[in-house]
Amino acid sequence: MKLLIKKATLVTTELKSPEVFDVLISGGEIKEIGQDILAPEASTIDARGKILVPGLVDAHVHFREPGQEYKEDLRTGSLAAAAGGFTTVIAEPNTVPPIDTPKRLRNLLEIAKKKSIINFYSKAAITIKMSGSKLADIAKLKETGAKAISDDGNPVPSQRLMRNALIKGKEGGILVTPHCEESAFYRERILRKQEKRGQPSFCLQMPYSSPGGSPYSSEAGFIKRDIELAEKTEAHIHISHVSLAQSVDIIANAKKRGVRVTAEATPHHLLITEQMAKEIGPNAKVNPPLRSEEDVVAIREGLANGTIDIIASDHAPHSPEEKNRPWDQAPFGVIGLETTLGLVLTFLVRPGILTLSQAIEKMTIMPARIFGLDGLGVGSLRPGVKADLTLIDLDRKWKVDASRFYSKGRNCPFNGWELHGKAILTIVAGRIVAKDGVVM
Ligand SMILES: [Zn+2]
Repeated sequence: MKLLIKKATLVTTELKSPEVFDVLISGGEIKEIGQDILAPEASTIDARGKILVPGLVDAHVHFREPGQEYKEDLRTGSLAAAAGGFTTVIAEPNTVPPIDTPKRLRNLLEIAKKKSIINFYSKAAITIKMSGSKLADIAKLKETGAKAISDDGNPVPSQRLMRNALIKGKEGGILVTPHCEESAFYRERILRKQEKRGQPSFCLQMPYSSPGGSPYSSEAGFIKRDIELAEKTEAHIHISHVSLAQSVDIIANAKKRGVRVTAEATPHHLLITEQMAKEIGPNAKVNPPLRSEEDVVAIREGLANGTIDIIASDHAPHSPEEKNRPWDQAPFGVIGLETTLGLVLTFLVRPGILTLSQAIEKMTIMPARIFGLDGLGVGSLRPGVKADLTLIDLDRKWKVDASRFYSKGRNCPFNGWELHGKAILTIVAGRIVAKDGVVM
């Protein structure tokens, strides 16, 4: 099937500034980019006034399969991604059971081949059962296709283990993306250990002061420790969902010293304060928590000045039943695949916090480079690469209605928000998988 996209404005790192071109797609690849391309046999899309970008990449999603398919599965997660303009995702390994062995990873990738309508990649666990006790077989996981290693939801408490994970990561050429934060699970474990040994632990030396007395407070401390370990081992470390001004500073300083550190921020940490979260309710309960106005401003600045490299949704669906519980009992997480692009365009690009090119880079080529997908052509818009593309209408106004989402999750803190800008075509390997937010 041939597809000819006429007179689209291309926004991609291959061009210094946005430029109008025709793009011809054939055999699943970008065949030609030029002016007035003639291809009478191709179906034609009039893209005048629309923005054509490399297919969007979300490097932090939870699709919950295997084990928690009532929250989301590989099919519905992929539909949500396509509807939101994403052609590639990288999933977290904290499924049930977690993706901590090559066999589990292989099975997951097999299921994804059958169920996902977009490109699905996965991270694998750093430690067996993500329990922070014993390293997973990192080299084999990489060989099987893991794009990074992460114990999502839990930090790696032991400094020695984290150091070893970074050494293995460096040796195997696989990115380490620690979850830089205490979890309830982790804290309990440390407390038990401390009882046994009567020793002070790393975690308990940190302040314990996050809003509502929730024990999720030591982000900056963990980021500092893990960056220092990465510096010593010369490994590449990627910091997930930065939430504090202090963390932005630590990352900026490390980058200045030449540490191989990259970082991501989520739309919710860029747009919602702790105060707003309280008003929204459990649908804004997330981990790390939403913070002060000052933190939000610092993350936006970090994003604009390059301290924070990418935008990722941390799409974390839960069932409506779970999220309807009172604040203290509801699980952590918000969904994001169907709102991220609209939020970024409305609240970061329109007010001039990011240029359109910057925003697109942070959602395409930057995550592709960081997670080693650029070699496959992900994040690029040039002849010869797979035709994964997203066509955007910057003028489209729409209202977020979570009840209509493809995701099984309804835990969207942006429900009812008016957005300005939307993906109107999502193309994977030359095939249109979603149009105007509707999956084909
Ligand atoms: Zn996550």
